[in-house]
Amino acid sequence: MTRAYVGLGANLGDREATIRRALVLLGERPGVDILLVSTLRETEPVGFLDQPSFLNGAAMIETSLDPESLLAELLAVELELGRDRRGARNGPRTIDLDLLLHGDLGVELPGLTVPHPRLHERAFVLEPLFELDPTLRIPGRGSVTDALAALDSDA
Ligand code: ADP
Ligand code: MG
Repeated sequence: MTRAYVGLGANLGDREATIRRALVLLGERPGVDILLVSTLRETEPVGFLDQPSFLNGAAMIETSLDPESLLAELLAVELELGRDRRGARNGPRTIDLDLLLHGDLGVELPGLTVPHPRLHERAFVLEPLFELDPTLRIPGRGSVTDALAALDSDA
């Protein structure tokens, strides 16, 4: 079993209900146990700014799935919850589930990069991770605490 972290985001409809439902569906998948869920926080959109604000958080899970299989489950849950993938990247979405970390693995595949490539520069991802485990390390990038401090010093 591997400890992994999943990013949670939504900015359309009943955002919290959709995130809670996604966690139930994810926990029902074979090989996935939800261990802890961070608080959910209000976040201004990045990239594509003219859209509703997001609710964001993260979940700590235990999984027997490899990163590719786990991502496939995340995408399946997104689809089940009605995510329409035709819109812009960073655009509005009913639900966004990202594979942030998968144990100490680094993965570089055509449809999958782990650790998630933008994780270290996003407070709305780092803060929930810190909340779930303040000692957490990002493979290849040092501790979550250091990544948060680096963001603060840029601000
Ligand atoms: P984003 O979450 O960056 O706004 P999407 O949710 O639309 O973008 O995802 C686009 C694609 O990113 C997915 O189809 C998936 O194949 C790819 N991807 C690459 N690495 C990851 C990852 N670690 N977690 C989730 N998706 C990823
Ligand atoms: Mg995504």
